[in-house]
Amino acid sequence: MSWDFETDPVFQKKLDWVDEFVRHEVEPLDLVWPHDNYKPLDDEHRRIVDPLKQQVRDQGLWACHLEPTLGGQGYGQLKLALLNEILGRSTWAPVIFGTQAPDTGNAEIIAHFGTPEQKATYLQPLLEGEIFSTYSMTEPQGGADVSGFETTAVRDGDDWVINGSKFFSSNARYATFFIVMAYTDKEAGPHDGMSMFLVPADTPGITIERNLALIHEPAEEGSEAYIRYEDVRVPSTALLGEEGKAFQVAQVRLGGGRVHHAMRTVGLAQRALDMMCERALSRVTRGRSLAERETVQSYIAESYAQLAQFRLFVLRTAWLIDKTQDYAQCRKDISAIKFLTPKVLHDIVQRSIQVHGALGVTQDTPLAKMWITAPVMGLVDGPTEVHLRQVARAVLKEHDATAGLWPTDHIPTKLAAAQAKLGVA
Ligand SMILES: Cc1cc2nc3c(=O)[nH]c(=O)nc-3n(C[C@H](O)[C@H](O)[C@H](O)COP(=O)(O)OP(=O)(O)OC[C@H]3O[C@@H](n4cnc5c(N)ncnc54)[C@H](O)[C@@H]3O)c2cc1C
Repeated sequence: MSWDFETDPVFQKKLDWVDEFVRHEVEPLDLVWPHDNYKPLDDEHRRIVDPLKQQVRDQGLWACHLEPTLGGQGYGQLKLALLNEILGRSTWAPVIFGTQAPDTGNAEIIAHFGTPEQKATYLQPLLEGEIFSTYSMTEPQGGADVSGFETTAVRDGDDWVINGSKFFSSNARYATFFIVMAYTDKEAGPHDGMSMFLVPADTPGITIERNLALIHEPAEEGSEAYIRYEDVRVPSTALLGEEGKAFQVAQVRLGGGRVHHAMRTVGLAQRALDMMCERALSRVTRGRSLAERETVQSYIAESYAQLAQFRLFVLRTAWLIDKTQDYAQCRKDISAIKFLTPKVLHDIVQRSIQVHGALGVTQDTPLAKMWITAPVMGLVDGPTEVHLRQVARAVLKEHDATAGLWPTDHIPTKLAAAQAKLGVA
């Protein structure tokens, strides 16, 4: 029987190195350059960032979500989950380790569906961490519901001409190219009528109307782009994957990404819990430390248990993906950890803020940023409600309605059957 919660000791050594490195070498970047992690590197940033990236490469940990043919380690999802737990502590860590979203997901789909020319043009520099990319799918009038999308790509000779608007195309202002999802056959509907295109950022007809800032970001640092595509002409070679198969391409992006988000959230929530404990032990009110107050003890105990069960669920899901090598088979659990992610983060950060008192709601601790990350996690890669429905449907599929009037576990009915079977009154 195999039921093992140990981490392979060789890999644990790697994780220990990553933990030390992120805490001591990478987290300082979060403090000095809190909004720069998506920006192309200037000389000052390169002086610090390039040697850190080199250290990661020397450890064989650069972009290790990738297959060995692309320079990764071919780590399965379980190992990646344990690694992401540590990277989740820091905003800059994914950049330093070559695992920055949305570039990771974009690299995955180009690796999966790209032609040799597309890989040479876009994938290699993306993997080197030298350029950034944007995933341009959501529209102002339709996000979770892809049937609301309106952007079209129409054939014109050997070219495609794209028209429409996109919303929340993260990081477009710094991207070298965009991956744009557009209808190529409206009649065929969203699942068979949309296609993906690789579009260089400087293609005429692309206008970034606005860069929206998230709640915690200064307005000028916003990088969630509202983009207008007006007669944007790309050659037929810009098509990524098969015509009409954008939906299937999009699915490849999401499977692993949701596990990575969940595990980075575990790392973030653990940090909030550590802060809560330290504060509870340090702060004294009415002659006793907060750690001695029953309510605060409940906050700590509940947070510990909530995080432990979530962490195990995420790791088990990662293990299941490795075992089955089939995201479709694991969809129920992937959706379940997806809708738990914002809740776990919200609950633990909220308690930590409470224990920190007024200090907790300022920008003097990382808690405020963690707090706003919770609702973001409830939206990116599909809102919570959609995943709740997905899980409910999958669970219900494993059950049947009862044919009779009473539930199967109706005790009087079962008792009568048991008495008849055993021949007792
Ligand atoms: C920080 C951030 C970064 C993002 N980056 C990108 C990106 O790079 N590229 C990109 O294309 N998109 C990106 N998005 C957009 C994201 O994918 C969408 O926000 C998401 O798909 C939801 O779409 P929407 O915001 O239009 O909400 P809507 O679709 O309008 O939904 C609003 C709300 O309605 C409810 N709802 C919706 N559908 C259902 C349903 N079926 N059942 C029950 N309730 C429902 C939910 O409460 C939902 O939150 C990003 C979003 C955020 C917050």
